[in-house]
Amino acid sequence: MDINTSADIEKGAAYLREGRLVAFPTETVYGLGADALNPMAVAKIFELKERPSFDPLIVHIAELSELEKLTVEPDERVLALAERFWPGPLTMVLNKSRIIPDIVTSGLPTVGIRMPDNEIALSLIMTAGCPVAAPSANKFGRTSPTTAAHVRKYFPDIDFIIDGGKTRVGIESTVIGITEYGFRLLRHGVVTREEIETIVPYDNTSKSDVLVIAPGMLKSHYSPAKHMIVSPPGKISESERPKAGLLSFSGQDTENYGRVMLLTQSMDLREYAVNLFEAMHTLEESEVEFIVAEPVPETGIGIAIMDRLRKASWTKKS
Ligand code: AMP
Ligand code: MG
Repeated sequence: MDINTSADIEKGAAYLREGRLVAFPTETVYGLGADALNPMAVAKIFELKERPSFDPLIVHIAELSELEKLTVEPDERVLALAERFWPGPLTMVLNKSRIIPDIVTSGLPTVGIRMPDNEIALSLIMTAGCPVAAPSANKFGRTSPTTAAHVRKYFPDIDFIIDGGKTRVGIESTVIGITEYGFRLLRHGVVTREEIETIVPYDNTSKSDVLVIAPGMLKSHYSPAKHMIVSPPGKISESERPKAGLLSFSGQDTENYGRVMLLTQSMDLREYAVNLFEAMHTLEESEVEFIVAEPVPETGIGIAIMDRLRKASWTKKS
């Protein structure tokens, strides 16, 4: 880590301890962080993001020992998942301990926790000495930021942004709930159901008591400022194409589009995920009138990608 980054981390940590907000990179997207144990600081996140108070925040930790302080007796399945996937893009929703303020969890008895796989994030949390509540650093419902410039676009007056370059994974963490019978998927991400199933069974009972309708299941989310549709690009009429920006997966049927963003050179879903939000930001800032997203195969992380595309393009039917 270079000297500038170390100085930024010291400054960011001091801000967090003072109850101020700091945007920082994780491996997934940029987070808007506050001391998770300081309710006044956490309230500023909701205010700045214009995030509804019913949508709970994920708490980020840098050491496994924090898990014991923040949750009620994590069992061996939780520890096995942490061992396998942390640091990494898996959030576990667990019964919270008393020290977590209600505002963090929107009054729920559970808290979402993860250990990010990013040197700056881990070092910031360690230096601050507190768990860090951090949702994505964007206005509520809009496209998540994968660069510091995206964060600045949403929050030009923010106290402080640590710039760690473009994020490595590009879409948000997988969120799971742990039940008596196994795990439930609350949000798709790059850690897939199949990978998690190698450690803990999937709970397909209907009797589980975990909160199944998680706030992340909102129909509309991640939306760019322009109208977006999910469609095979060949189906859009030739006359409409010049007005549209295309998010291309296959590189096919790109003729006549106003702008083409090829998100992967070799139909690689991981590469596509890394580039998706950045391309959405580029298109919303460009001259195109609307965005066409080519569907991707719904296997592996393609499930998480299609979830983002559908929500970003969801419009209310009147
Ligand atoms: P964000 O921080 O913007 O990536 O969103 C965090 C998401 O994590 C929420 O929208 C929920 O879907 C999920 N989440 C966090 N905490 C909980 C919880 N206690 N119960 C259920 N879902 C949660
Ligand atoms: Mg978010």
